[in-house]
Amino acid sequence: MSLFLSRDNLQELLGEKRKILVTGGAGFIGSALIRRLLSKSDAKIFNIDKLSYASDLRSIQQISKSISNFDQRYEFIHLDLCDFEKTLNAIDYCKPDLIFHLAAESHVDNSIKSPNEFIKSNIIGTFNILESVRISLKNYSSFRRKIFRFHHVSTDEVYGEILDNSQFEETTRYDPRSPYSASKASSDHLVKSWFHTYSLPVILSNCSNNYGPWQFPEKLIPLVIKKAIKKENIPIYGDGSNIRDWLYVEDHVDALLISSNKGELGESYCIGGNQLMTNLELVTQICSIIDEINPKPYFHKDLITFVPDRLGHDKKYSINASKIKSALGWENKVLLHDGLKKTVEWYFKFFSSQSAN
Ligand code: NAD
Repeated sequence: MSLFLSRDNLQELLGEKRKILVTGGAGFIGSALIRRLLSKSDAKIFNIDKLSYASDLRSIQQISKSISNFDQRYEFIHLDLCDFEKTLNAIDYCKPDLIFHLAAESHVDNSIKSPNEFIKSNIIGTFNILESVRISLKNYSSFRRKIFRFHHVSTDEVYGEILDNSQFEETTRYDPRSPYSASKASSDHLVKSWFHTYSLPVILSNCSNNYGPWQFPEKLIPLVIKKAIKKENIPIYGDGSNIRDWLYVEDHVDALLISSNKGELGESYCIGGNQLMTNLELVTQICSIIDEINPKPYFHKDLITFVPDRLGHDKKYSINASKIKSALGWENKVLLHDGLKKTVEWYFKFFSSQSAN
């Protein structure tokens, strides 16, 4: 039996919502959300994505055979949200009952090297979709306007860094410190202002670091696995003491489905697994899982090398998720060690199929 929301629970949550649009659905979290919606609901799913280096549509194609009427249930729209006219036309065409807005440039290192794309996609892209929705909703029937929701998917990084034992919560003051987190903070403010000014029915969530299958291979966890498999040095920034709060991606998907359908309009929900680890502990744990799966005459942790720290590297993130737990009944199901094991096993197969091709 699955740990996550069942088909019955999901159908009940969605109620009359029949058409769901996911932006950024070719990326890591968006594709997990689409796979879940396709396999556990009857809704029609639209996926808008510009297809960047971080996208991989195989993450959705791989389940196509197991979904009846896949071609009628799923539609991909190749679109950059920075183009307002095309975005407006796409929203008008899809007429969704629910939007999950995930499309964003998401790699902090890239935002430090070249912030331009982050300002465009994360701020202008969010403005374009908000405006398109505001305009398109005028043509909805009053019933469909009443059930419509816009869920903005954001990050805990908007709150900055923690230097003591406190935790981020919904009321924590925004203090973004990288071009990535500043652009996400800006998009959060835009979304909230469209709620207050135009009564757009929005819900926001701010989640901690996700991990799981189909994450772009240059992100920390897949990179460590890739380097370990290839017997290459595994780089860790600084002394590896930066602390992150890790959440398995399917737990995040549950939280998104629950908060978008049961959450209060205009509210934000902090999402996190309360599973904190330093980067060094995390990488060491991954290495020992690889030692078990693929024993070698050496320990994979011996491949760890420390490299100069990332500019403005936030020391610690930690989320207090009690609001979504007590108000909406969400809880995370996957323990970090179990999720890491599943993830390592998945990447082992993924990287070996890549090298076989
Ligand atoms: P990702 O980089 O894997 O995927 C993002 C997708 O958005 C890509 O397929 C990309 O092509 C698409 N995209 C980017 N700009 C676009 C544009 N202008 N028009 C259309 N498509 C565009 O990212 P992810 O890790 O899946 O993150 C998804 C969302 O969740 C982001 O908004 C991110 O800020 C947020 N988030 C991520 C994490 C995490 O740990 N990965 C944690 C909290 C919040």
